[in-house]
Amino acid sequence: MRKTPYTKALMDSEFWLTTQLEEMNKAQWEAICDGCAKCCLHKFIDDEEAGDISEQEATPTAVGNEGEEVFFTNIACQLLHTKSCECTQYQRRSELVPHCITLTKDNLKDIFYMPKSCSYRRMHEGRGLASWHPLLNKGKKTKMHELDVTIRGRTVNENEIDMQSFEDYIVTWPLADVD
Ligand code: SF4
Ligand code: SF4
Repeated sequence: MRKTPYTKALMDSEFWLTTQLEEMNKAQWEAICDGCAKCCLHKFIDDEEAGDISEQEATPTAVGNEGEEVFFTNIACQLLHTKSCECTQYQRRSELVPHCITLTKDNLKDIFYMPKSCSYRRMHEGRGLASWHPLLNKGKKTKMHELDVTIRGRTVNENEIDMQSFEDYIVTWPLADVD
């Protein structure tokens, strides 16, 4: 998740209507991110084979199996600015937060980890950009906030809760899509 360069030239080009994700240049790729910040919420995969394990024993994974169920919580990464929904350490995010997901053309097959509203997932699944996307709204996220597409006002900081009780924070609203 990043502060996206929604330049006028990019918006005017309407590249998302004619260019597949795999063919996008860097600026186009970055501009597809709608900045919802749902990917900055802690998520857990229900793995029956793993049995009961503690949060300390649980390990991050970059590999998922189709059909696995992903649970979202409202626990936000400590580096997330929860009002702007932007990463405060975008350039150093992978170094500071090893489990931070960086979506690339190479791991698109794992896109099912992302919420249904994620604009990369929407594009990958052929659903196109939603009407609330900043590229269709002068670069603004106002409509997204109004429609509750972003995480604004609905999260707790990972440093302020007992992560052992993460199950108490499981929520379904990140799974919703609008439009
Ligand atoms: S969920 Fe997708 S669109 Fe939303 S901030 Fe993360 S990468 Fe961007
Ligand atoms: S470091 Fe945290 S706030 Fe920044 S992009 Fe990654 S998950 Fe989001």
